[in-house]
Amino acid sequence: EAEVALVGRSNVGKSTLMREVTGHSFDTGGNPGVTRSPNHYDWAAEDFVISDLPGFGFMSGVDEEHREQIKTDIVQYLESHADDILVAILVVDGKSVIDIIDRHSGPDEIPYDVEMFHFLRDLGIPAVVAVNKMDKVDDRDERLDELCDRLGLLPPWKQWQETIAPITAKKGQISSLNEAVREHLHDQKRDDLF
Ligand code: GDP
Repeated sequence: EAEVALVGRSNVGKSTLMREVTGHSFDTGGNPGVTRSPNHYDWAAEDFVISDLPGFGFMSGVDEEHREQIKTDIVQYLESHADDILVAILVVDGKSVIDIIDRHSGPDEIPYDVEMFHFLRDLGIPAVVAVNKMDKVDDRDERLDELCDRLGLLPPWKQWQETIAPITAKKGQISSLNEAVREHLHDQKRDDLF
């Protein structure tokens, strides 16, 4: 079954985005570290399911071992469903993503978000980065250019509108994401013709 997978750290706004996209309401915030098994929902306007994977990265009250387990579960899910997943949406918090990436960059450390982005590509899953909470970001273009740089995409970000989608999920401002996802779906349909 055709699937769009939603991944991202805890608290970036995945539940909020799911609610916006599907029209259903989801548990936001509560129960960090309780591994949500992938949930499947229909995307409002489109003919595929969207699956919501558990949040990864730091969660208060969750020990390191459990965090690693969640990450392992996500990786296994993506590997085993790679053929069905048409697009993965990696949700990040536009306000904090650069600081978090830079804090976790080092000779022996690859930040989760960067790692996930490359991992999806290695699996052949097109990735769209939904840069959420843009209502809290003042220097929009600069911030998005920095994000491109960290992900190994040559700025300016405007060249990457199929990959970088600034949104404000809370206010329902997700048209750039809809566009980006649609582009990927259409690209794949075109590919299927040949
Ligand atoms: P999840 O853990 O990734 O599912 O994140 P949630 O959807 O629970 O959202 C975490 C917090 O971010 C909540 O307090 C949301 O209200 C807030 N949030 C979500 N989207 C936005 C947004 O677009 N702008 C702002 N300012 N806050 C947001």
